[in-house]
Amino acid sequence: MKFQPVFEKTTRPVLIAGPCSAETEEQVLQTARELAAQNIDLFRAGIWKPRTRPGAFEGVGTEGLRWLRRVKQETGLKTTTEVANTQHVFEALKYGIDVLWIGARTTVNPFSVQEIADALSGVDIPVLIKNPVNADLKLWMGAIERIHKVGIQRIAVVHRGFSQHGDSRFRNAPLWQLPIELKRRYPDLQIICDHSHICGRRDILGTIAQRSLDLNYDGLMTEVHPRPDEAWSDAEQQVTPFQYQEMVSHLTARLSTTDDVEFLHSLDTLRHQIDDVDEQLLQLLGSRMKLAEQIGEYKKRNNISIFQPSRWNEILEHSVEKGKKLGLSESLVAVVLRAIHQESIVHQERIMNENRPDLVKDEQEGDELAAVVR
Ligand code: PEP
Ligand code: MN
Repeated sequence: MKFQPVFEKTTRPVLIAGPCSAETEEQVLQTARELAAQNIDLFRAGIWKPRTRPGAFEGVGTEGLRWLRRVKQETGLKTTTEVANTQHVFEALKYGIDVLWIGARTTVNPFSVQEIADALSGVDIPVLIKNPVNADLKLWMGAIERIHKVGIQRIAVVHRGFSQHGDSRFRNAPLWQLPIELKRRYPDLQIICDHSHICGRRDILGTIAQRSLDLNYDGLMTEVHPRPDEAWSDAEQQVTPFQYQEMVSHLTARLSTTDDVEFLHSLDTLRHQIDDVDEQLLQLLGSRMKLAEQIGEYKKRNNISIFQPSRWNEILEHSVEKGKKLGLSESLVAVVLRAIHQESIVHQERIMNENRPDLVKDEQEGDELAAVVR
């Protein structure tokens, strides 16, 4: 898949900001005027709001589109809103919305995404696709493909975090590895961090924004409201235009690359060393598995079970201690060793059950085990 940029490439992050929901014409226009003065790139406001439980404020509907049209006329700001079905798409197009976004609760549902894609067939408008609420990279990719298939090339993704059970520092777990993997697969896809929905609170917005820029994100989506505490939706995570300006002023933009020869040379030298170490790690893992297989043969001859809890505990404890001395976190050592241990078990099982093909794990089962130990 080939993508065209939704946002012009510059050295500063793309700034998308505006209220969670359009509430009144006065609130929308006031926010837009103050944000226009800060030179943001795109003004956001939810018109149709997907709410977790009925009875909550579900958005002002089409009337709000008139307010967004006024925002554009008065401030020159481009606008974006969330669409979740065919009718939303047609209404948004009718009122001249510049960019559409697909929300997390819609990305999760292929029927809805297809409905939106069909409504967009033959239309040339940029679309932002938020990650699905659950941590499923394929579902996110599926939504991107559905929109791309109808001829839309200006697609960017919005990382807004993933639903989780229980209390956490975040409203939605960032699970940075998922968007990183998406970007690895589609390097020309622009990626925006919706830190408001990841954080769910104001105090860590700046930290998460910076983290995303350090990871080479193209920009931020932030919820901004003139009186956040009185907001009709997502009050805890919205900030005033002034607080927004403060937050943005503390960010350090990172370059994705440079033509500074000395920097590039040093980076290259270090990367070669890393490649060498990675090669050694792989060779060592290969040798370790060969040893595990020899043990497997031995256990088989003596009819001893593969899993030996006391030995495993001893390895784990010993290595965590050693790792600490080398500056490695306990979680890294535990994750790596669990994965290695799991792989050793698979190798030993293969040896032990050579004459029992029904007991030999296929690759998929191996993957499932790897997922469990992560
Ligand atoms: C929003 O941006 O206000 C919104 C509803 O977001 P999400 O789809 O990420 O929950
Ligand atoms: Mn919101």
